[in-house]
Amino acid sequence: MRCPFCQGLDTAVIDSRASQDGFSIRRRRSCAQCGKRFTTFERVELNMPFIIKRTGDKREYDRDKVRASMKLALRKRPVTNERLEEAIGGIEHELRTLGEREVPSSKVGELVLRELKKLDLIAYVRFASVYLSLDSPAAFEQFIKGLIDPAKTGKATAKSRSVLAALKSGNGS
Ligand SMILES: [Zn+2]
Repeated sequence: MRCPFCQGLDTAVIDSRASQDGFSIRRRRSCAQCGKRFTTFERVELNMPFIIKRTGDKREYDRDKVRASMKLALRKRPVTNERLEEAIGGIEHELRTLGEREVPSSKVGELVLRELKKLDLIAYVRFASVYLSLDSPAAFEQFIKGLIDPAKTGKATAKSRSVLAALKSGNGS
């Protein structure tokens, strides 16, 4: 840290204390060259990271895009906008607290999947089938089976059937 008065590089911290809220640190510094004192602040920086697409393109995070893809998956499902917004908030919080400047778009996809799984199983399966490119009935069946606890096989079959039935009825309109 250069001295703002003489541009000298030799400055020493003589005192440091955390702010009341605990989110910043105030440091008192002294310049060895000119003897002047100054204060610096250290704060947590929680910016949204840039999103790196599969093609390598760098984009700004786009909340509208995330919302649109989640809404598509949630179409006609009993999930309120409020809960959707909360889920998006959770995704953004997670992205910020990763502390990375750039994250792959697959990370956003993962977080969307995780939130949808909590919100609504049907929406989760819809999103996953596109996101994970489940392009054959066999791959799809495998995925549905993976959702179900193998310890409860009897119930599992009924549950996976109801998931599939709900998916079919959702496709028509
Ligand atoms: Zn100085």
